[in-house]
Amino acid sequence: MKFIIATNNPKKLKELKRILDPLGIEAVTAKEAGVCLDDVEETGTTFAENAYLKAEAAFKKTSMPAVADDSGLSVDALDGRPGVFSARYAGENATDEDKNKKLLSELENVSKDDRTAHFTCAICCILPNGDKIEVEGVCNGSIAYKPQGEGGFGYDPIFLYGGKSYAQLSDSEKDAVSHRGQALRKLKSELEKYFEKSKNN
Ligand code: IMP
Repeated sequence: MKFIIATNNPKKLKELKRILDPLGIEAVTAKEAGVCLDDVEETGTTFAENAYLKAEAAFKKTSMPAVADDSGLSVDALDGRPGVFSARYAGENATDEDKNKKLLSELENVSKDDRTAHFTCAICCILPNGDKIEVEGVCNGSIAYKPQGEGGFGYDPIFLYGGKSYAQLSDSEKDAVSHRGQALRKLKSELEKYFEKSKNN
């Protein structure tokens, strides 16, 4: 079955594809499906609300089952910021490096013990009949003093999990512990239940 994935972030797409693939779900982008999805304004106050807005827009436009995620980093010493504003934390056109620099400078005088943070990933999947599955994954860690590692994207080089940054983990190591990996495994289990139920009806 083909699902449209409502993201323009190629690295996120790669993570989504490698987790959905074993479920027999072909994750296609809007471009691959031959449609143009306008950017959805992320007006929600929670990750779940924003994921729903993106999935709903893709479903309405394509009539295909749609998956969208909204994710971000919440830092305790910053009262949960950047949170739902993670993508725009350093301005609209800022690079990942700009965002990481800004975050590190905001935490300049914060001690190791107080640098706790978590990533959240909310996923909304709208099924062919319009039913909705919503799941969330959280990964607790802390913020490094400087970027480390070459892999991943976004805040990966400054987010520490178990002594390494996300950017120092292999793809499979990151999937096994990450907020997105956890949310996708929950989605997998909900989709399996849904397909089982539809088979029996
Ligand atoms: P959005 O979910 O596309 O709105 O993106 C939220 C922001 O969080 C972006 O700036 C991403 O780079 C960042 N982000 C989301 N997931 C991850 C991740 O797994 N690693 C690093 N940064 C992430």
